[in-house]
Amino acid sequence: MRICLFGAGSLGSALGGMLAKNNEVVLIARRKHVLAVRQSGLRLVGDVRLVARVEAAEDLQGIAPPELLIITTKAYDTDEAIRQCRRWVTKETRVLTLQNGLGNLESLRKWLGSRAFGGTTSMGAALIRPGVVRVSGQGKTVIGGDLDPAGAGMIARAFSSCGLQTIVDKNIYGQIWAKAIVNACINPMTAILGVPNGRLLESPVIERLMGTVCDECGQIAMSNGIRLPQGSMKLRVQAVARDTSENVSSMLQDVRNGKRTEIDQISGAFVRIGGLRGVPTPLNSTLAAMVDSMSRGEVVGKG
Ligand code: NAP
Repeated sequence: MRICLFGAGSLGSALGGMLAKNNEVVLIARRKHVLAVRQSGLRLVGDVRLVARVEAAEDLQGIAPPELLIITTKAYDTDEAIRQCRRWVTKETRVLTLQNGLGNLESLRKWLGSRAFGGTTSMGAALIRPGVVRVSGQGKTVIGGDLDPAGAGMIARAFSSCGLQTIVDKNIYGQIWAKAIVNACINPMTAILGVPNGRLLESPVIERLMGTVCDECGQIAMSNGIRLPQGSMKLRVQAVARDTSENVSSMLQDVRNGKRTEIDQISGAFVRIGGLRGVPTPLNSTLAAMVDSMSRGEVVGKG
C-alpha cells in the first residue's frame, strides 16, 4: 500500500519507518528532517532499530497521492493539514488520525465522511535529531471500525504485518476520549510541576487532584454521549503514570522549550464541551489557563 505520513516528526517518522517494511512510504516533514532522510535514510533507534529508505518531501508538490494518508501533525495543525491535502487526495484515499486531543476525527469526517478513520496509539517516539527517531515502546494501535469496519480491518492488517500490534474497535470515540482523559489528568500537572510522569503518584494531594480532573472529564464524556471503555478511568490514569514514570511528557517538554502545547485540544476541549453541555469545569479551566500562560512565557522563570 502507498502510505503518506503528513507532519512526520516524532510519531509520524516512527510509524513511517516501521510501515516501510511492507509498504511504499512517503513522509511530509520539515526541511532538515527531509534532507537527512533523503541523504542517509530514516533511522529508528531504541526499542526498534532499523534504517528505512522512504520518500520525503516538504510539501505535496509532485508527490503521488497515497491509498492511506495518516495525519501526525500536532492537533493544533490538523485544520491546516486538511487545507493542504484537500485537493491532493483521490477518491480512493483513506485518512487516519492517530493524534492526541479531541476534535481531530470530527474535522477529518467533515472533510471525507466514512473515508476518515480515528485511532489511538500508545507508541512512544521522539525525533532526537534530523533523520533519527528514538522509539521507546511500540505500544498498541487501535483503529476505529465504527463507519467502515472493512476499511479499518485493511488498515489494521497493514499495521500488524509490519510488527505493530493493532486492533479494530467500533467504539473509537470512547478510545479517543479515554486517551484524552488520561492526557488531561497527567500532562498539565507535569507541565506545571515540572516533573516526569511517575512523580505525580508520589504525592497523595496531586493524586487526589488528578482523580478530581478525571471525574470532571468523565462527566463531560457522559453528558456528550461518549461510552468510555470498561474499567476505572482513575486506575487507568494511575497505570499510565506508573508505566511511563520516567517519561517527560510532551507538554512539559514544549513548555520548557517555549513551544506551543496541545493544551487547547486537551483540557481546553473538555472546557468547551463542558460549557456546551452545562457541566462545570473548574479544574480543566484552571489547568488550561495555567499551561497556556506558561507556554506564553508569562510566568516561567519570573520568580
Ligand atoms: P511532532 O514531533 O511535533 O511532529 C509533528 C511534525 O509535523 C512537526 O515536525 C511539525 O513541524 C510537522 N508539521 C506540521 N505541519 C506541517 C506541514 N504543513 N508540513 C510539514 N510538516 C508539518 O509531534 P509528535 O510527537 O509526532 O505528535 C504528533 C501527534 O501525535 C500529537 O497529537 C501527539 O500528541 C500524538 N502522539 C504522539 C506520540 C509520540 O510518542 N510522539 C504518541 C502518541 C500520540 P513544526 O514543529 O515545525 O511545526
